[in-house]
Amino acid sequence: MKFEDFNLKDELNQAINKAGFAEPSPVQADAIPIILEGNDIIAQAQTGTGKTAAFGLPVLNKMKCDGTVETLVICPTRELAMQVSDELFKFGKYLNIKTATVYGGTSYSRQIKHIQSASIVVATPGRLLDLLKNNQIQISPKFVILDEADEMLDMGFLEDIKNIFKFVPKDRQTLLFSATMPAPIKKLAEKILKDPKHVSIAKKDITNENITQSYYVVEEYERDDALMRLFDFKNPSKSIVFCKMKRDVDRLATYLVSQGYSAKGLHGDMEQRQREEVIRSFKADAIEVLVATDVAARGLDVKNISHVFNYQLPFDAEPYVHRIGRTGRGGKTGVAVSIVTPSEFRSLKKIQADVGAKMEAKIIPTIDDVKNKNQDGFINQIKGQHIDDAVCDLIDSLKEEFDLSTIAYKLATILANQQKVKGKNNIGKSQKDIEFLLERMKNDRGGNGGGRNRRGGRGGNFRGGRGGSGGGRSRDGGSRGGSRGGSRGRQGK
Ligand code: ADP
Ligand code: MG
Repeated sequence: MKFEDFNLKDELNQAINKAGFAEPSPVQADAIPIILEGNDIIAQAQTGTGKTAAFGLPVLNKMKCDGTVETLVICPTRELAMQVSDELFKFGKYLNIKTATVYGGTSYSRQIKHIQSASIVVATPGRLLDLLKNNQIQISPKFVILDEADEMLDMGFLEDIKNIFKFVPKDRQTLLFSATMPAPIKKLAEKILKDPKHVSIAKKDITNENITQSYYVVEEYERDDALMRLFDFKNPSKSIVFCKMKRDVDRLATYLVSQGYSAKGLHGDMEQRQREEVIRSFKADAIEVLVATDVAARGLDVKNISHVFNYQLPFDAEPYVHRIGRTGRGGKTGVAVSIVTPSEFRSLKKIQADVGAKMEAKIIPTIDDVKNKNQDGFINQIKGQHIDDAVCDLIDSLKEEFDLSTIAYKLATILANQQKVKGKNNIGKSQKDIEFLLERMKNDRGGNGGGRNRRGGRGGNFRGGRGGSGGGRSRDGGSRGGSRGGSRGRQGK
């Protein structure tokens, strides 16, 4: 299947090429033709599988660009709204399509002005409903999209959404996209969709096969040391650390910085401006570690996140799937690591059974493990090092006392000792301890053990796609800057 097979407008194919998408993802392959034919749709696919383009491309293809608001996309959070708006802007660029982003916490008047000149409005429910109720905007969109519907439910937006639908025309095409399909969402769908077609990719492959998942068992007081040791051992280029609570985010981010890591926190109590700033610097590689709560990092699409760390486990499988879905995006591989205490063991097993993925128990590396792993680094450092004239005298004088190989050994020792690995040597539980815990759990549950593993087959994500990483970065660096902090209305070309 190729994107050309959809017979989209040239301007869209051009934008798809520019984004570097090699082939449609499964949800795109299934949903795009259905939407092009004019049907309502309920589409379910795990995070990171390209749902935005799955509705964005066919809708853009159908739009007339008649100067009215033709499309309304409702998203659960400001961050997601901005992300979707960016993606639609990218695809609509050559069609000269204007988007307006609408969310709470900023000026009404500017957003109203932007809406008046836009053909796509991407909005969070609260602010949108405000504007509609107070008669500050009148829109008659022909396409209404509920994106990440399950998250809207989680965030308590269900009533708002029902109300929003009182303000949009009955004669419309309605599209509902979600990673999971809880009962209240199905009910909502019955109310607002007309004879919808169903697309479901998530059933078969609930987690992304590009992500390797493992866990380490520690005592509560060892979490910080465990995390830092894993950083030192795995050298993640870019990672998100998930915490359960806002106060953990603040404390951990500050602590990591004090220990020399390049980290920042992200949670819902921060001001919008601050949050945007943190996300921007994370995207621009100005920080390596983002410490975040579930809600703050929901749906965050940042390219090239190498690792996701669960500093604490989430309460159940759904947030776990959302968390680890921040890595392994767009066909890339990713690593998801959970730090769990014995008291979290039961949740771990539950998540594992629900997710149906293989999660390997591992032992936290010792100081020597870290040093040994870094030996390759030393070798390359020595190989690549040019020789300064100034050291020749030094070596000459040393040679009066030692032979050359003794000098080399001594220098290598100095180099190795310079590398300080923090924390005690052994952190966390041994393989034996973990086996014991696993065994105990099995007996508790009357031998039911790990449960049936619905180990996903092939397929969830794009294979071999190029991921379009170039596009993402320049988008953030460039066009965002000027209009940050308010609603953003933009025009292609
Ligand atoms: P979802 O909404 O399902 O979580 P997104 O729409 O945010 O996923 O897409 C995840 C990432 O994958 C984005 O960076 C997007 O640009 C990229 N992407 C989408 N479709 C494709 C494709 N066909 N090939 C390669 N990358 C894609
Ligand atoms: Mg999405």
